[in-house]
Amino acid sequence: DLVKASLDRIKEVDDEIQAFITLDEENAMKQAKELDESSEEKSLFGLPIGLKDNIVTKDLRTTSGSKILENFNDPLYDAEVVEKLKEQKTVTIGKLNMDEFAMGSGTEYSAYKKTKNPWDTDRVPGGSSGGSAAAVAAGELKFALGSDTGGSIRQPAAFCGVVGMKPTYGRVSRFGLVAFASSLDQIGPITRTVEDNARVLEVIAGHDEKDSTSANLEVPVFTDALTKDVAGLKIAVPKEYFGEGVAQEVKDAVRAAIEKYESLGATCEEVSLPHSKYALSTYYILASAEASASLARFDGVRYGVRAENVEDMIDMYKRSRSENFGEEVKRRIMLGTFALSSGYYDAYYKKAQKVRTLIKNDFEQIFEEYDIILGPTAPTTAFKLGEEMDDPVIAYANDVLTIPVNLAGVPAISIPCGFSSEGLPIGLQIIGKHFDEAMVYRAAHAFE
Ligand code: GLN
Repeated sequence: DLVKASLDRIKEVDDEIQAFITLDEENAMKQAKELDESSEEKSLFGLPIGLKDNIVTKDLRTTSGSKILENFNDPLYDAEVVEKLKEQKTVTIGKLNMDEFAMGSGTEYSAYKKTKNPWDTDRVPGGSSGGSAAAVAAGELKFALGSDTGGSIRQPAAFCGVVGMKPTYGRVSRFGLVAFASSLDQIGPITRTVEDNARVLEVIAGHDEKDSTSANLEVPVFTDALTKDVAGLKIAVPKEYFGEGVAQEVKDAVRAAIEKYESLGATCEEVSLPHSKYALSTYYILASAEASASLARFDGVRYGVRAENVEDMIDMYKRSRSENFGEEVKRRIMLGTFALSSGYYDAYYKKAQKVRTLIKNDFEQIFEEYDIILGPTAPTTAFKLGEEMDDPVIAYANDVLTIPVNLAGVPAISIPCGFSSEGLPIGLQIIGKHFDEAMVYRAAHAFE
């Protein structure tokens, strides 16, 4: 019934929302029928799920939002997170729209379609996991997985009024996630409630031999942390998160949230993350540098589309790539190749690595004294379709509050904390210590 309801809802609204790149209706119904005949004790038994289209699924098309993978119909394996969900007997409904290779903030850089924000269909759902957030917000799915390299789970969650968690770097296996920037990428859940979110992370988290950066640590029962008790919690509020560029309505909603925490018995104090002003430039150098390497594999030989009528091998490489990568992806490859090139490496890449350490140290210092950090998720509410495409620098600036978290590797969630005068959702970001997702969930749940 759950799977049927989900498919019915998709039929009803997805012509307008455009959240899915690929629907796997037949297979989903078949699986649901099989499950009807069994009865197992599994925490996510029978739940319909959707996956961002950069999460590899065996025999189910995985495009990563790119034309270059248009014909990647039959991947040979499932990503580790997909295997873990299948063990819990979830039913995969389909693959969700995203910015090409997860580069973007509005899902408009998808090679396939433009997803609409369910709260206002003239606006973007955020990005790059915009399909995932929109599908959950529109009631098409109970939950979805996204990926977050610089904010791509939290920002669309904020724009769509849902709950999105970026776990600690290393908490969830990246095996089978199409790489954007491997030192920053993490997979995480997008859900309606904090409790659902904690339940999904419990399932997908944990060590995986196939990803050497996944942490060999026990995964706590995150739902045990949902006590509603935040009395005595020490909360840090960075002044940089209320700077110029953050809309007044966003500041007001987050200030009101802080007052609510105080009324629940937490103490909130202003702090400073002095190096966060360098986070954007650091991120766009490092993420682009890593992306230029990650995307080298798309050469027309091993995966995806190959240019036709080519003159020789070099022509084949060139044309396969230039005809099938989109403009934003090309921009990042050029930026990254430049930052890594001889003569510029020290000035850009190496310098950015050093600044990354300073940003990480800022967080560590604060966490010596405080349990969590609170601030807005994004400086604005959802922007109009097309706005981001007009000026990439404006789009990059939208990541200013989410990116420091990825550079530091710490976990952070976005939960809804109010609406703007135009009726658009505003997100509250709760940042925790390394591997302390339990505390993040505890604080988030108390707010709901
Ligand atoms: N908007 C950011 C970018 O374009 C973040 C993307 C992400 O987290 N995948 O790089």
